Amino acid sequence: MSESLLVAENLVKRFPIRGGLLGREIDSFAAVDGVSLSVERGKTLGLVGESGCGKSTTGRMLLNLLRPTSGSVRFDGREINEMKRKELIAVRQRIQIVFQDPFASLNPRMTVGACIAEPMKVHTDLSKDEILQRIQNLLSQVGLSPEHANRYPHEFSGGQRQRVGIARALALEPEVLVLDEPVSALDVSIQAGVVNLLEEIQDRMGLAYVFIAHDLSVVRHISDDVAVMYLGKIVEYGSKDQIYNAPTHPYTQALLSAVPLADPRRERSRNRIVVQGDVPSPIDPPSGCRFRTRCWKATDKCAEEEPLLVDRGYGQPSACHYAEVQAVI
Ligand code: ATP
Repeated sequence: MSESLLVAENLVKRFPIRGGLLGREIDSFAAVDGVSLSVERGKTLGLVGESGCGKSTTGRMLLNLLRPTSGSVRFDGREINEMKRKELIAVRQRIQIVFQDPFASLNPRMTVGACIAEPMKVHTDLSKDEILQRIQNLLSQVGLSPEHANRYPHEFSGGQRQRVGIARALALEPEVLVLDEPVSALDVSIQAGVVNLLEEIQDRMGLAYVFIAHDLSVVRHISDDVAVMYLGKIVEYGSKDQIYNAPTHPYTQALLSAVPLADPRRERSRNRIVVQGDVPSPIDPPSGCRFRTRCWKATDKCAEEEPLLVDRGYGQPSACHYAEVQAVI
């Protein structure tokens, strides 16, 4: 069987903890602790979890925008972390990122056309006319009109700006897009339009997506597989059907339980799972299972023994000693 397009194995990222008057490094903590995932051409992996669980850090390591402390990222069978600068620049063109806040990633002093042209000027031999043609093409691909090229980022709505961010990410014809909370800052009514656009682009161009989001309802529509993260680790990883229809990890079940249902009668009668407390600090994570301090199933075993992310008889890997299917929505 051929390998997936993008494969991460056992990724770890430790950040320094600084202290004292001189801000020297006194210790470090793992923001991402042993994450493995893979994405195939034309497919979408949803990466979901609460704020601070390490989703963005994982996403950035996939492009080598952040160097992992350890672990491997292979793109098209080649190890990214061992590549020389020139080779890495070439690979970065094939993996692009779209950020949550497109305003922050677009230069406010440049027209949108110039923002989209920038990567093409740096990385391709296209002539000025070819670049202009491509900008018009990209703008229409993302549902904007060619005249928009002469406007500045502040002259766009949030949804339009995100479309510009997507056009810019597509400029170098990448094979993978890492979408870091691409619709979280948008109104719910606008979110669907951008998600549909991403799906259309994927169908047309066969791109692979890593779609990062903090809530499971957003990734449901677009994902083929879903990885649920908690405090630096993946706690459950399965196909969309497995995660949404037969979740086995209490944390996945709690996240799903927070998703509002469209039917008010079902919504009123359902039993919501409410997790207590906040996410613990990654600087001092709980022993054993990291979710145990908020889990209603926790026993002494959970404090003593870390549950590994393995198939517990339900088909998808789940990091819970007491994993069992509980349909929530
Ligand atoms: P959010 O959805 O809020 O962006 P996230 O799941 O994407 O959250 P990350 O941004 O990956 O989480 O952060 C994971 C942890 O690593 C957090 O505790 C964060 O404070 C810490 N962190 C992230 N970047 C750095 C950095 N450059 N230096 C030190 N700590 C960092």
